[in-house]
Amino acid sequence: MTGSPDIYLDNNATTQPLPEVVESIAATLSGTWANPSSTHRPGMAARYAVERARASVAALLGVSERNVIFTSGATESIAIALIGAWRAAKGEGCVITSATEHSAVFSACTFIESMHGKTMRVPVGRDGAVDPAVLERLMRSERAAAVSIALANNETGVMQDVKSLALLVKSIQPDALVHTDATQAVGKVPVDMRQLGVDLLSCSAHKCHGPKGVGALCLAPGIAVPPMVEGSQERGRRGGTEAVASICGFGVAAESARQWLGERDASSSAGRSLRDLLEATLLGRLAEQGAVVHGVDSPRLWNTTSIGFPGLEAEALVVALSERGLAVGAGAACASGSLEPSPALLAMGIPEPLAHGTVRLSLSRFTTESEVRVAIELIVDAVEAMNRAQ
Ligand code: PLP
Repeated sequence: MTGSPDIYLDNNATTQPLPEVVESIAATLSGTWANPSSTHRPGMAARYAVERARASVAALLGVSERNVIFTSGATESIAIALIGAWRAAKGEGCVITSATEHSAVFSACTFIESMHGKTMRVPVGRDGAVDPAVLERLMRSERAAAVSIALANNETGVMQDVKSLALLVKSIQPDALVHTDATQAVGKVPVDMRQLGVDLLSCSAHKCHGPKGVGALCLAPGIAVPPMVEGSQERGRRGGTEAVASICGFGVAAESARQWLGERDASSSAGRSLRDLLEATLLGRLAEQGAVVHGVDSPRLWNTTSIGFPGLEAEALVVALSERGLAVGAGAACASGSLEPSPALLAMGIPEPLAHGTVRLSLSRFTTESEVRVAIELIVDAVEAMNRAQ
């Protein structure tokens, strides 16, 4: 078993590292393995490699290099951002998130609650969007240390109007720090931190064809949050020797993503038309099975479709598709032996049975039309077979 499916449509879970990323990691591990904090020549070479990668990540995200902190991934970036913002406010303000955030955000909130802090979730509508009026009411009634709204949802691809929401927050509470989890958006659509007007932005290399175990927390000018792990590295903002090889891989992936985004208008990319082809064909051919796409009325990432089949178990469909050579994601996660439907789908008001039968298909910028056409046949075959067996 190689672990490589024939067709991979689970790019929101992780993406395949680019060949040049793999090369960069191997070359760094064998040639630039010194400690970047060492002042001798090999150490300086490693430092140079880290800083070159930092410049690439900064350029992709519209942020100054000195304000990019390398972390172990988005989960850590989010924890530093939210727990740090809450600590910086001396634990007095609450942390407000949308109801459809990634579990990494909710885990940080759970920690804050365990320290007797307050967190609140802003509900979303059936379209998955945060209602600015609801956020406004909350901002007028609760002192906030931080507000965290993901730029794009990992399950549905629904994109929030983070720029407007950040403006709204700042107009009512200028001291509240605004964080966006941009993990799913980075590398797929242009993300410019300055334009978004947020104070903190988290992302991860493995969602944009880089390696796992490395990410970044970006800060707006003048913004600081206390570290989770003390140490002199990363300007005292994240202790621990830098993962030089992974960081170099991240830099190469960021450079490649920037080039790709620059070459095309991402909103009208080929990927979008492939997703639309996938979606429209499945909705048409599986209409009898009640196929429905979630978040369809909102702006969405061009690569993601969250599609529900009432009465089916998503996990069983994932297995059936895997046996046919197609890798997709389930909108449900196995927790303590039972299948829990995605909280993001439930927060959108999607009935539990439908959330249970929802799978996520997520393309990459390398997905081809022939792969999509084969995937359609495999999905139709698997869904029809499962329905017949019921
Ligand atoms: N935020 C979002 C929206 C994600 O999709 C993910 C990964 O699934 C994360 C955060 C966590 O990223 P990482 O795996 O780098 O910790």
